Amino acid sequence: MANFIHTDFSASTLALHAGYDYDKQRTTSVPIYQSAAYSFESLEQARNRFSLQELGNIYSRLTNPTLDVLRDRLAAIEGGAFGVVVATGAAAVFYALVNLAEHGDNIVYANKIYGGTQTLLTHTLKRFGIEVRVFDIDDLNTLEKVIDSKTKAIFFESLSNPQISIADTKSITEISKKHSIVSVCDNTVATPFLHRPFDYGVDVVVHSLTKYVNGQGSTLGGGIIERHGLNELIKDNPRYPAFNIPDPSYYGLVYADIPFPSYGTRLIADWLRNIGATLSPHAAWLLIQGLETLDLRIQKHSQNALEIAKFLESHPLIQEVCYPGLENNPYHHLLKKYFKNAQASGLLSFEAQNVQVAQKICNNLELFSITANIGDSKSLIIHPYSTTHSQLSESELKSANITPNTLRLSIGLENASDLINDLKQAIEK
Ligand SMILES: *Cc1c(COP(=O)(O)O)cnc(C)c1O
Repeated sequence: MANFIHTDFSASTLALHAGYDYDKQRTTSVPIYQSAAYSFESLEQARNRFSLQELGNIYSRLTNPTLDVLRDRLAAIEGGAFGVVVATGAAAVFYALVNLAEHGDNIVYANKIYGGTQTLLTHTLKRFGIEVRVFDIDDLNTLEKVIDSKTKAIFFESLSNPQISIADTKSITEISKKHSIVSVCDNTVATPFLHRPFDYGVDVVVHSLTKYVNGQGSTLGGGIIERHGLNELIKDNPRYPAFNIPDPSYYGLVYADIPFPSYGTRLIADWLRNIGATLSPHAAWLLIQGLETLDLRIQKHSQNALEIAKFLESHPLIQEVCYPGLENNPYHHLLKKYFKNAQASGLLSFEAQNVQVAQKICNNLELFSITANIGDSKSLIIHPYSTTHSQLSESELKSANITPNTLRLSIGLENASDLINDLKQAIEK
């Protein structure tokens, strides 16, 4: 289970040490345990492991020592109780939600979220018989109106990609607590170094580790972390029968009765065991390297992005710059309330005069690459309307605040003046 030893340390220290006790070889870099399975010392031990009498490795679809370091480190940095890491952020969002809702249930979600998650909710989960209902992240009066006895999760992003809105997390979790519903927050863009959702009452945090955690655009990964004490919310809660009745697929286990985090245990014992989407040990190792420097990097991303936002705002050919670090941004007060040093990561967007200008800017940039990704150390640009959000309906686009003129930037770690000069020449060409 999670390594709780280091939890008195600050997140930047935990990012370097949590979850790894030197193995016999005392390697300073976390070893990559490239093994599909584990041998048991005896048949008794094998039996005890299968029946959860004893915790330990069985098969790498379920657990692997390299992945354990990543998940424990991530959980420690977020200030959570337990984590699970999976192959992608998309798998993390899917597992986090289907661990709560099944056929006949509904999930309530914020209108401003990642395009892939939007498609998962409105199309894929629908085919599983899970209904979804949208609420307006900027008007939380709309949230309570869509909740009913079948609502199993409230899903939102702390800093949304690509609309760049900031959630009033505390107000959302006041509503989730009132109705005893599990709140699920995607904290990918903020990262735990700028914002820790558990500090504001969130129950489950999900991550695409592909973005800032990896930081180099080299690997995919996802994470799901639960808060301390989530067991108490789930135990005997009529919303969550799957945790409170015996699981016929797992020796009649009642997850809510086990003495460790029940939400995460079910993620492993049910979803990972039966479906997979397991992270590879090598990918986990790359993500561990990323976590070590994330605190420093996210500060630099944020400083660069603020400089570039100020430049764009002052440019006569640019319409509207959306960056919460700007004082006139509608989310600036929420940024100051919820984000460390009011830093807002490297994500910013702006409106070009028209779609032709948007296209011209993309094609004339030299340092920025046209890439459907964020959080890379290299600067990226994308036109959401024709790419990441091209599958959304007109009403969904309107709700998500995406127009044909919107350009989204993911500001990297290059010299800020070089980036500004590149943008300037592309805009003025
Ligand atoms: C990228 C992203 C995802 C999906 O993650 P993958 O690792 O690409 O599967 C989910 N949520 C947010 C906010 C993202 O930016």
